[in-house]
Amino acid sequence: MLKLENVTKYYYSSSSVQCALRKINLEFKLGEFVAITGESGSGKTTLLNILSGFDSYEEGEVYFNDQLTSYYDESDWEQYRKNEISFIFQNYNLIESYTVLQNVAMTYVIDGYTYKEAKQKAKEKLKQVGLDGDCNKKTSKLSGGQKQRLAIARALAKETNIIIADEPTGNLDEKNGENVLEILKNVSKDKLVIVVTHNIAQIEPYITRKVRLHDGEVVVDEVVEQIEEYEVKSIQKDEKKEFKKALNFTFLNLTSQPVKTLLIFLLSLLCTISSFVFYANFKANLDENKTKLIDTSIFQNSDDTRLLVKKQDSSIITEDILKEAWVENVVSVEKFDNVTDVNYYRPNDYKYVIDSELKDPTKEDIIDYSYYSLVNNTHFMRSSSSLTKDMLKCGRLPENDFEMVVYSNDVSLLDTIEKVLFHNERTMGVNVAYQYDVKIVGILKDRTDQVYFSDNLCYIMDSSFYSFSITLYFIEGMFKSRTAKTTKIVIDPSLTGNQMSLGKDMQEYLNFRKQVGYNFYLKYENQSLYLDLEYDENYVMSISSSAVGVSKEVFDSIYSFVNQKTQFVVFIDDYVNTNAVIDSLSNKGFDSISCFKSSTTGYDLEKLVNRYVNLVVSIVALFVINLITIVLIYTIMKLKRNDYLIFKFNGLTNKLCKKINYLDVIM
Ligand code: ADP
Ligand code: MG
Repeated sequence: MLKLENVTKYYYSSSSVQCALRKINLEFKLGEFVAITGESGSGKTTLLNILSGFDSYEEGEVYFNDQLTSYYDESDWEQYRKNEISFIFQNYNLIESYTVLQNVAMTYVIDGYTYKEAKQKAKEKLKQVGLDGDCNKKTSKLSGGQKQRLAIARALAKETNIIIADEPTGNLDEKNGENVLEILKNVSKDKLVIVVTHNIAQIEPYITRKVRLHDGEVVVDEVVEQIEEYEVKSIQKDEKKEFKKALNFTFLNLTSQPVKTLLIFLLSLLCTISSFVFYANFKANLDENKTKLIDTSIFQNSDDTRLLVKKQDSSIITEDILKEAWVENVVSVEKFDNVTDVNYYRPNDYKYVIDSELKDPTKEDIIDYSYYSLVNNTHFMRSSSSLTKDMLKCGRLPENDFEMVVYSNDVSLLDTIEKVLFHNERTMGVNVAYQYDVKIVGILKDRTDQVYFSDNLCYIMDSSFYSFSITLYFIEGMFKSRTAKTTKIVIDPSLTGNQMSLGKDMQEYLNFRKQVGYNFYLKYENQSLYLDLEYDENYVMSISSSAVGVSKEVFDSIYSFVNQKTQFVVFIDDYVNTNAVIDSLSNKGFDSISCFKSSTTGYDLEKLVNRYVNLVVSIVALFVINLITIVLIYTIMKLKRNDYLIFKFNGLTNKLCKKINYLDVIM
């Protein structure tokens, strides 16, 4: 089965050449149990290493099954070590971190069994060496004798024809040594067993042949017992997918040290999470716009997701144009652009001011808006046009003039009416606010502070706040002298036809001139619009103290030009997509600007410093975390190096070793 012909082996060192084996001629047959003896340094280990394909030689030939091995390449040798040789080491070469069972199961996994199958088969092998009771013991806890028996069980698991053992009893006491030899003898009737030993007396009863080396030469080669001839039966091992094997192996490695695996897992998890955190922090601080001061004189609502949009040819917006603006990352399109600059205050939002500024507010006081100028509200109106019915928990979407949907836990809010105050600080330099009764017609599913108003209400506010300032002329006295007052026109829902109402301030102003009576007409830009309006002085309009109230019909006729708008607003999902959206809109013929970006002016020093600190901290942290990760991976790989050497002795190919290594690290 194995034949050496004039094999000579030298060891070269810088100063000398050592001849370890000289012209060795030996032939081994299946069924033999050979003892190789010789004093220390006589070349026993060298001989075994050559037989097992771990080492090369300078002269001569080695035949395996009558095949010349000098033509073997590295992968042939791998196959040879894997399929033909089981090696038992003097120092056991067990994987200490594995359990007894796993050390044997490993061999089966290398052979392509699943981990589960491997464990089953390993149990049988452990029975043969009397270790089946210690399956789940850590290998490091075993005694020397037990370790050697385990090493034999592992070697047997390989199911090869040749078993080679280098001083298997060298580290054991007499009794344990005999025990081990007994086992070897029992399991190896039809195999070739080659055992190196110092103790020829101990091994004598078991062997069929003894070979003695001296100074690299065979000095004794004696058959002790005749053996029967065995046919060499080639061992068929089915080659399973390498990747599957590697996976099984990795699984074995992970489960062999659950605590370590868990710790490494937690540490990597920590590294991963903190990487994300610092990366997010880094990204959040990339945009220097965030460190700039905001000038609210341009847009009161400088929300960073708000874009102002118009057609490049300034065409008047139509429903079709609005539809075109729904490009990617756009979450809503607001036809009434000015409305998104209007603050709304629900009763809870303005209570505070009333309580602190006024002891006992009357209905009229509530609409004296000088008290509200201090309120710094960040809620801006939005229309409900981009909502869908399935966003509602209950109720319906707004349809009529004074309707809204809100988020609330309290479903009983549905169909209640709230006095909502609408306010904008910089409306033509006049501090104007309007208060309307608005009905909650739907409750939103998702938690939000935002209130969504009916399209009609948006139109009403868009007109009431931002249209041209309207001049109200009234004609007084016998000589019909004209006095003008610039004011705002709002809808007073309690009026019909050509009725007109006045707020508290306006009424006081007019009462001052009440002596004779008056007529009204309105003027805006260079158009005059005569309105034949009826006025009831006993009625005080409570929507706004300084405005003129008219019916919906009159309001519409005055503000019909709001349908001639050229500009609208879109909201996007995230500030980071600003440029992308501006680009896509530009492709569709729109000009757009980010309200946030155009509101930013000089730098806020504190924010600027913060930004740089954050950037530096993020970069350093990312660097350190990655360094830790690399060191961690490197340490894992280094810790395993010895294990991999053992895997290789047990027939794991280099290629698979690398795969397992990567998988281990990835896992
Ligand atoms: P044994 O196992 O019988 O004690 P070895 O096969 O280990 O003997 O060694 C045979 C000879 O080869 C010894 O003289 C030893 O010094 C030498 N030798 C063994 N291994 C090496 C090596 N790696 N480098 C140099 N010389 C070696
Ligand atoms: Mg030796």
